[in-house]
Amino acid sequence: MRFRRGVELDPSQVSDRRGRGRGAVAVGGGGGLIGLVVLVLSLLGGDGGSVLLDAPLGSLGSAESPSAECRTGADANQQDDCRIVGVVNSVQAFWGQRLDGYRPSTTAFFEGSVSTGCGVATAAVGPFYCPVDQGVYIDLGFYDELRSRFGASGGPFAEAYVIAHEYGHHVENLIGVLERSRDGSSGPQSSGVRVELMADCLAGMWAGGAVATGYIEELTQADIDDGLNAAAAIGDDRIQERVTGRVDPESWTHGSAEQRQVWFLTGYRSTATDTGSNIEVCDTFSVPSI
Ligand SMILES: [Zn+2]
Repeated sequence: MRFRRGVELDPSQVSDRRGRGRGAVAVGGGGGLIGLVVLVLSLLGGDGGSVLLDAPLGSLGSAESPSAECRTGADANQQDDCRIVGVVNSVQAFWGQRLDGYRPSTTAFFEGSVSTGCGVATAAVGPFYCPVDQGVYIDLGFYDELRSRFGASGGPFAEAYVIAHEYGHHVENLIGVLERSRDGSSGPQSSGVRVELMADCLAGMWAGGAVATGYIEELTQADIDDGLNAAAAIGDDRIQERVTGRVDPESWTHGSAEQRQVWFLTGYRSTATDTGSNIEVCDTFSVPSI
């Protein structure tokens, strides 16, 4: 994945809250799954009194955002933080062109824990989208876990896939699909899994149209393979097998490795081959079996 050197980045789409969450009391735990919307929603519906406030903002962290130094595509090619800024910019440019009424969402980098419109979350929940404040949240340490804990090959595009998946949830929120995961169901054909696979498909749509956004100059097959590899690594079956040694499809919340790859590719192929394709190709609720 290579960015156009001269393209101007918009660092204001990313806020840097690192250094603010350390020392705050940890809530949650386990999990570690990408895009735990279900957990976030359950925080919402849960006991608000147990939600802990983050440390006072004024006393912690630096006022200067490293991402403010991310000015051009050349910066995105050289610095990890700036690469994420470039991905966020590209994903939002894509949806701004594709989705009528698209409203931008900010990505917040955090460390340890973070206070959001959906309550306080720790890094243990993995990257997530909060529908209340319409923000994407990621502790960039997740990218190390993707390799060390989930066994993914990693790489810049694996990281981009994670971001694009979360923006998929934002798109779902804007079009009113996200709430369909609130029924708390699980299993390979459940609403929860359909919402997750749709987010994978929407991530794929962006990937197929990423070069056309003008931010990215080149995506190679190796990049796409890294994305597919990451999607598989966080498939419910792979995680279950590694953690418990057995696979229990009825408890799936995000979909199997195969399902996640299939839906990513469905979105990818639609925009890589047809500039007129639309979001309906990702409507996981329109097919009897996903
Ligand atoms: Zn998700």
